[in-house]
Amino acid sequence: IFIKHAQNEKIETMSHVAASLAHEVRNPLTAVKGFLRLIQENPSDTIKTTQYMGICMEEIQRTEAILSEYLAISKPLTNRHELVNVAELLKVMRAVMSPFAILHNVELDVRTPDTSVNIMANPDEIKQVLVNFIKNAIEACADVRRGRVFLSLSVEEGKAVLVIKDNGIGMDEGQMKRLGSIYFSTKSSGTGLGLTYSYHVIHTIGGTVSVNSKPNVGTKFSIIFPYQEQ
Ligand code: ADP
Ligand code: MG
Repeated sequence: IFIKHAQNEKIETMSHVAASLAHEVRNPLTAVKGFLRLIQENPSDTIKTTQYMGICMEEIQRTEAILSEYLAISKPLTNRHELVNVAELLKVMRAVMSPFAILHNVELDVRTPDTSVNIMANPDEIKQVLVNFIKNAIEACADVRRGRVFLSLSVEEGKAVLVIKDNGIGMDEGQMKRLGSIYFSTKSSGTGLGLTYSYHVIHTIGGTVSVNSKPNVGTKFSIIFPYQEQ
């Protein structure tokens, strides 16, 4: 009976995931189809064709982003943990996320110590977690004047503390309580998967997340990892 129950739960989860993936991919596909049809109807209008092709490209890129978020959560977490230098990883993140920040007109400020700050984790998973938090912070600042995302790392009382701070739209109490719940998203094209995945990865390696936020002021996430002496 227990096995049967577990199977049922699995199938229920699978059908949830399938439904929400289909829903999210269908929207951009419908848009692309519509604009391709418009191009087809009047291919000689080069100005409109160029404009519509730009929209199609954006929608396809959005589809790709949605699929990669789903792909990230589809892989089971590994327990092959190794020494990961978070200080070094933040420098990589600065380079990786800069184009996204520039695109949203947001300043990305990364302060890392010169010494290494090691934790035990799977490097790919931690990278994805950082991308998720930084992406959210940049997106929160997208419509703000002088948007700024600030990352800092320190070692305090035998723990590695990573702070991700932004001066974006912020959150109210109700929104903060729902953080990490699957599919919770306030964005028109959000998946609500990024933080669910990230919290899971962090908790699995014995870390914690705390959040401080105020609507129209900004948000501060603090991630605390068990620090690994070398
Ligand atoms: P998504 O980004 O697809 O919406 P996430 O799981 O990454 O899903 O985030 C869930 C929700 O948490 C977001 O939709 C947003 O409402 C809120 N959130 C997360 N980070 C921030 C932030 N830095 N500032 C404001 N809101 C945030
Ligand atoms: Mg997100």
